[in-house]
Amino acid sequence: MTGKENARQMEKIVSLCKRRGFIFQSSEIYGGLNGVWDYGPLGTELKNNLKQYWWQVMVRERDDVVGLDGAILTHPAVLKASGHVDTFTDPMVDCRICKARLRADQLAEKNGARQCPNCGGKDLTEARPFNLMFQTQMGASADPASIAYLRPETAQSIFVQFKNVLDVSRKKLPFGIAQIGKAFRNEINPRNFTFRSREFEQMELEYFCRPEQGMDLLAYWLKERIRFYEEIGISRKRLHVLDVPEKERAFYSKGTFDIEYEFPFGRQELEGVAYRTDYDLQQHVKAGGKPLDYFDEETKERFVPHVVEPSAGVDRAVLALICDAYDEDSAPDEKGKMETRIVMRFHPRMAPIKCAIFPLLRNKEALVAKAREVQALLRPHMNVFYDEGGAIGRRYRRQDEIGTPFGVTIDFETLGEKGEELRDTVTLRDRDSMKQERVAIKDLPQLILSKIH
Ligand code: ATP
Repeated sequence: MTGKENARQMEKIVSLCKRRGFIFQSSEIYGGLNGVWDYGPLGTELKNNLKQYWWQVMVRERDDVVGLDGAILTHPAVLKASGHVDTFTDPMVDCRICKARLRADQLAEKNGARQCPNCGGKDLTEARPFNLMFQTQMGASADPASIAYLRPETAQSIFVQFKNVLDVSRKKLPFGIAQIGKAFRNEINPRNFTFRSREFEQMELEYFCRPEQGMDLLAYWLKERIRFYEEIGISRKRLHVLDVPEKERAFYSKGTFDIEYEFPFGRQELEGVAYRTDYDLQQHVKAGGKPLDYFDEETKERFVPHVVEPSAGVDRAVLALICDAYDEDSAPDEKGKMETRIVMRFHPRMAPIKCAIFPLLRNKEALVAKAREVQALLRPHMNVFYDEGGAIGRRYRRQDEIGTPFGVTIDFETLGEKGEELRDTVTLRDRDSMKQERVAIKDLPQLILSKIH
């Protein structure tokens, strides 16, 4: 696709997200809060499916990982020790002409001179560091001792609680602590829809190990994490791995891979998988004065563990799911004329609604009653949606546009009016092939469940 086509594709995606209730601009009726987004009814389901699946494979299905849910408000000493207070900055420049604040490392150059993307002006200030953390005040007094920060990443609460979790979980190395939660960064230029937001969510695992295991575990986690994206339906050909060169890595990292996705606005980071050595724990030992070490019963050694960290962005993964799922093909309208169909090809595992239930006619009491029965049968197992409004083709199309993988139609055959052998059977429609098959109502839960897990 050309740059123009990609931009058009992104416009279509953003508009669908608003139209169908995936993602809204936050505080929209007041003009919007820049870099902050709200998830609507379908976006919330999609995001929850993603987080639940991550938790399932990263925590519940493993013997070596436990969970944590740390606070957002963070003691300044934690972020001083981690280096965030002094060095969590982006280089910022101001445009003297239009007063825009810009990230110095994202500026385009024209004829060797840096140019403001806003007004095209070349009169820019020197770059200076801008700290990305949101600072707030705890309690009623306004003295510097009451400063707290909204966490810029979920990882630090894991490091700070390492000893407590180790003591209660009695895990042996290697083992991990996982967390999903909000993080906040005062990004200079929030952009590309939800990709760079000021409030976002992370899914992070800190996997503690012996120093000699670090490099192998880095390779292991990279593989696991790519498999995860494939399992949620992201096409492998749009995923890329960047082996971050040493000079671009954090100075304490012995290896970092970025898992990138080809968004319509370019190839960008979805997740970082980094071998952080023992840097974080050592920093907290130095600053906090409390031991954060591990005693190996077998070798009788005591040491500070090293850590490998797969750190993923929830919102970026949701955006990748949406971009990857968006498709247009053609389908016949009511009169059999082919028309463009927008279809979100979500993996059934991620789809916000798994199955839509349609009585063929809304004014036939027996059809409606049967459809409600099917709804009650499926509801305990999955998110279903009941829709009796409008022509059946139109109802199918509405579900295609939000990626519902299955549609069940209750018709006169279901009521036994076209022969006893068809009583209590329905049509099950597949979103992608648009093919329909006749299925017994009692078999529906098992059949659909086998495809959505
Ligand atoms: P970038 O270089 O894109 O700013 P980063 O390298 O600073 O990202 P990390 O600090 O490694 O990001 O954070 C881990 C993950 O958290 C990222 O891979 C991304 O998915 C997510 N993330 C970071 N910043 C943002 C943001 N502003 N908006 C949404 N997600 C983010």
